[in-house]
Amino acid sequence: MTSSSAFPSPSASPLAPYGWDDAWAEAFAPHLSRGLLPARVIRVDRGQCDVATADGVLRADTAFVTPHDPMKVVCTGDWVAVDPAGRPRYVRECLPRRTAFVRSTSSKRSEGQILAANVDHAVVAVSLAVELDLGRVERFLALAWESGAQPVVVLTKADLVPAPATLGHLVQDVEAAAPGVPVLTVSAATGEGLDVLAAVLSGGTAVLLGQSGAGKSTLANALLGEDAMEVQATRDMDGKGRHTTTTRNLLVLPGGGVLIDTPGLRGVGLWDAETGVGQVFAEIEDLAADCRFQDCAHLAEPGCAVLDAVDSGALPGRRLDSYRKLIRENQWIVAKTDARLRAEIRRDWKRKGAEGRAAMEAKRGRR
Ligand code: GDP
Ligand code: ZN
Repeated sequence: MTSSSAFPSPSASPLAPYGWDDAWAEAFAPHLSRGLLPARVIRVDRGQCDVATADGVLRADTAFVTPHDPMKVVCTGDWVAVDPAGRPRYVRECLPRRTAFVRSTSSKRSEGQILAANVDHAVVAVSLAVELDLGRVERFLALAWESGAQPVVVLTKADLVPAPATLGHLVQDVEAAAPGVPVLTVSAATGEGLDVLAAVLSGGTAVLLGQSGAGKSTLANALLGEDAMEVQATRDMDGKGRHTTTTRNLLVLPGGGVLIDTPGLRGVGLWDAETGVGQVFAEIEDLAADCRFQDCAHLAEPGCAVLDAVDSGALPGRRLDSYRKLIRENQWIVAKTDARLRAEIRRDWKRKGAEGRAAMEAKRGRR
């Protein structure tokens, strides 16, 4: 039987590979005393979900945690409390999320849709085999920051870049467009850089973002190793103790850490990424603090510090164009969605995002 005394320390728990830590254990304590099992959602499927527990993978019904608010529906990556006794088994509670990826639905209803929860690293895959589109990189970064996760840019297919000098310039260009974001270079073909990426991802839960063809599937396979996928599939047990082979959307990485790979996340669109925009264009927001007018739009206003910086060459004009474009697009999406809900979510995630980033900074500083 699973109990707190069986796993005195979260690191000794069979759930540790899934990201279970002291903070989750603390958040879960009241549910543990009610006899509920801690579990992480590895897949959601029409009113049911598969969850990883200390005793293996179980299927549970989500009827009790399916509120009308689509932002609160259980999703892959959530930590939940499962009642082991009931038949069917029910998810009884969903722990408050640290971070979440959301996108606007393509339907007429303008609600956000939760794609993944409790993500620490948003890996933005960018192919070196095609011309760099920094505007697109910036959009993915905005989305990542808004979720509360730490973005990491991974330049893929490095084997296709002919000269080391060229590679160096490309990395510099991306670094300039991505303040505060680690930029890694990898090749799944040669294996170059994969160890560094695996090490970065070993400390949390990651998602892969990026354009189709950027090399996300290849990267996922390289990180997971075919063996790891095979083993995880056959190790899963259904409610009757049989081995099953369900598709998981959350996988444990052999080098530590967790990878969430859901079909919906891959082509994710922007949703309320205003905070994220500020993060991506940190230098513009800094400059804007010196504009004469507080609500300066940096178009033609007198005393505009941003335009001055463009004039002096300190700020590339391209950055300002991207910034304006992203703000415009974002305002349109925001206008479609419910303001109260948005404010609530933003307050929560802004705080968590800031905490998460501070922790990352501290971690990086220590190395
Ligand atoms: P996704 O759409 O982002 O999942 O991209 P894929 O993983 O399917 O990769 C797109 C194409 O790029 C495939 O043909 C891969 O074989 C190729 N590719 C991926 N990684 C590398 C790499 O490191 N080097 C080379 N040369 N090709 C790669
Ligand atoms: Zn201005």
